Amino acid sequence: MAEYDYDLLVVGAGSGGVRAARVASELGARVAIVEMDRLGGTCVNVGCVPKKLFVYGSHFAYDLQDARGYGWSTETSFDWAALRANKDREIARLNGIYGGLLERAGVDLLKGRAQLLDAHTAEIGEMRRSAERILIATGGRAILPDIPGSEHAQTSNAVFSLEELPKTMMMVGAGYVALELGSVLCALGVDVTLVHRGEEILRGFDRDLRCHLHDELEAKGMRIVLETRVQELRSTGSGFEAQLSNGEVLETDFPVFAIGRQPNTEGLGLEDLGVELGTRGGIIVDEDFTSSVPSIHAVGDVTDHMQLTPVAIAEGMHLAHRFYGRGEHRIDYMSIPTAVFCQPELATVGLTEAEAWHRCQDVRIYKSVFTPLKLTLSERKEHTIVKLVVDASNDRVVGCHMAGHGAAEIIQGLAVAMKAGATKAQFDATIGIHPTSAEEFVTLR
Ligand SMILES: Cc1cc2nc3c(=O)[nH]c(=O)nc-3n(C[C@H](O)[C@H](O)[C@H](O)COP(=O)(O)OP(=O)(O)OC[C@H]3O[C@@H](n4cnc5c(N)ncnc54)[C@H](O)[C@@H]3O)c2cc1C
Repeated sequence: MAEYDYDLLVVGAGSGGVRAARVASELGARVAIVEMDRLGGTCVNVGCVPKKLFVYGSHFAYDLQDARGYGWSTETSFDWAALRANKDREIARLNGIYGGLLERAGVDLLKGRAQLLDAHTAEIGEMRRSAERILIATGGRAILPDIPGSEHAQTSNAVFSLEELPKTMMMVGAGYVALELGSVLCALGVDVTLVHRGEEILRGFDRDLRCHLHDELEAKGMRIVLETRVQELRSTGSGFEAQLSNGEVLETDFPVFAIGRQPNTEGLGLEDLGVELGTRGGIIVDEDFTSSVPSIHAVGDVTDHMQLTPVAIAEGMHLAHRFYGRGEHRIDYMSIPTAVFCQPELATVGLTEAEAWHRCQDVRIYKSVFTPLKLTLSERKEHTIVKLVVDASNDRVVGCHMAGHGAAEIIQGLAVAMKAGATKAQFDATIGIHPTSAEEFVTLR
């Protein structure tokens, strides 16, 4: 082993790479991590964290409306530049924290873009470093459309560095990134049109929740155009116009495409080394995150599996424990809870109703749509939906879904109950906390 500079060389200091590097080093390995941009990767810089800060910031628009019903009269104004600057300051603080964590764990940080020269060596600018194992944790990037005028198309990254709020935004796509960032700008007064080629928003989620959310987003002023593609983007001098496949010409100041993300595998030299890639360019790995080349591993978005920070972190942990510990950390991909932080937020764990009918012989569905107590004194109308999917053969709860205030916080707890194999009878036997929205889950009949 001494013939190599390191035991483990990690490429990419995002969620998965940093966790693998830190844990491997703490377990005694000699580790270096290479990063060509800011520490923390997508999640910290242009993903989960700044997105959630913007969600909090924009939700005050609704909170202030609600406050009137509770006797508050408020003179308010909103300053986008202040929100952005405060967000930037917090992200810079987190970048520093990541640096400190790596330093304290004894990981060498190498700044620059890495390219592999062979199965044990990477070139980083002028430097060459060798390692017994190389971990590729380079994440993914947003896809841009292949249409005339695509040079005018922006990605979600642009939202985080907007100098000023546009008057209008065209958000193309209807996955979680599109809905979340569309909701943020909509709440802040931007005229948002969502254009989506599919027949409903949020493909893959439970149908009741998709339809519920569609109505709620429209009620908040978002325009949703379905079964429509953007065929061309043209600059008008003062803004842009999008030629839509339904014949409409949509004028917009800010055309953003959130139509999917692709793994960052280009330019690493992987193909030359015989690393097998999937059809979308993701690195194919086995259950220990080893690629077709035994010394090259991959975790996180670059494997094109589940694009979630906790998944990338769990994979990084697994890899470190597998090769430098006792291999006791294992990942269970079943029933991973997930949220869409649009407004209202949606969270889900387990099977949708359609999936349950596919997998179980008989299914029982329980659902409730209601106005949360907090909004009874507000002029603002927003409904919450909760839904349980139960396997009738054994009474096991196989799906929990919610769209409404606090959904993500509530579903995280229910995910533990589902992991423990909770039955509907056990949900029913649980006393609720009153008055809450969460108690609906234990009173569904
Ligand atoms: C707008 C948005 C919102 C999101 N919100 C959520 C959320 O709420 N919850 C959630 O769980 N997930 C969310 N995600 C997904 C989440 O950010 C990713 O799943 C996660 O960051 C993946 O981690 P990773 O380690 O695989 O890659 P990344 O975090 O992307 O890190 C990869 C790193 O590798 C570096 N790199 C790439 N190539 C090289 C190279 N050749 N040399 C050196 N360095 C290189 C990059 O600069 C980057 O820092 C969101 C994503 C986006 C875009």
